Amino acid sequence: MILSVSAVIITFVLPLTYHMKKLLLVTGAVLCCHSLFSWGFYAHQQINYYAVFMLPPEMMVLYKPNIQFLTDHAVDPDKRRYIVSTEGAHHYIDIDHYGRYPFDSLPRYWSKAIEKYGKDTVQANGIVPWYIQTMLSRLTAAFKEKDQVKILKLSADIGHYIADSHVPLHVCSNHNGQFTNQQGIHGFWESRIPELLAATSWDFFIGKAEYISNPLSFTWNRVLESAAASDSVLTFERELSKQFSSDQKFSFEERNGKVIREYSTTYCLAYNKMLNNMIERRMQQSIYAVASFWYTAWVNAGQPDLKQLTNKTFSQEDLKEFDALNNAWLNEQLKGKGEFLPDR
Ligand SMILES: [Zn+2]
Repeated sequence: MILSVSAVIITFVLPLTYHMKKLLLVTGAVLCCHSLFSWGFYAHQQINYYAVFMLPPEMMVLYKPNIQFLTDHAVDPDKRRYIVSTEGAHHYIDIDHYGRYPFDSLPRYWSKAIEKYGKDTVQANGIVPWYIQTMLSRLTAAFKEKDQVKILKLSADIGHYIADSHVPLHVCSNHNGQFTNQQGIHGFWESRIPELLAATSWDFFIGKAEYISNPLSFTWNRVLESAAASDSVLTFERELSKQFSSDQKFSFEERNGKVIREYSTTYCLAYNKMLNNMIERRMQQSIYAVASFWYTAWVNAGQPDLKQLTNKTFSQEDLKEFDALNNAWLNEQLKGKGEFLPDR
């Protein structure tokens, strides 16, 4: 169940006693409750899911029957960070390390960027805009090879990285408000609010995928939009926080015999209003971008007939890899490390 998984991720679980609850409310103890640092699991899964409905019929014949796989595996890249040390850098770019908006000093081409700053520096600041291009090339190659397993795995993965590039706090070094005493804002923006509002109030049927003639430039435009929005994301929350006492800002909920602390519904609604539905718009733009990148890869591969693919069954190695990803992620949750991005 998507929601229960994300609930485990985003929240701080406490033993159940009334007095403890009361004590924590009174003292306003600082309990960290944020998600893994990318769109929460729920949002990532929704983005890949709804992207399928934007595809043309020639692609739908493959994507629709496999929609559950694309949804479930939308979060593999986040799980992969626990077993692949270089994975973290694929999910973000701390673009403010390169000056001020619109960051003209940073070359948009990978080769020019590493020539100017050195590969280690560029890698350390995060490489999401360029990694999306790498994934697009791999997906295009998989279409050319007519390899169904590769197409599905790469489609699920690229959906994740594209979605991450739409999150303002993935494009900002103050990614969890840690420099401004706003710890937890990352999960608040990308997990708590979508989980509260997406299913009931947001619209994700938003038209058709389109061919992207310049994917690198498209990606940079989205990254710059995210960068421009990061200031509002942080500033508005800081302002709103002044109007709420701690026990108004947070609430405790009981789920399955455990008490969970999270941002209160009132606080979520007030913040969402201040942002003028920015989170819904960024989810919609993510869905459009994911579908359009899938479509672009297929077109660039010569529009192969997706009813005539090879390699349709996941191998033992694939299944072992999925297990390893799940186990690594679950272990981190049990150790309590899942709340922190390991590579930043
Ligand atoms: Zn991510």
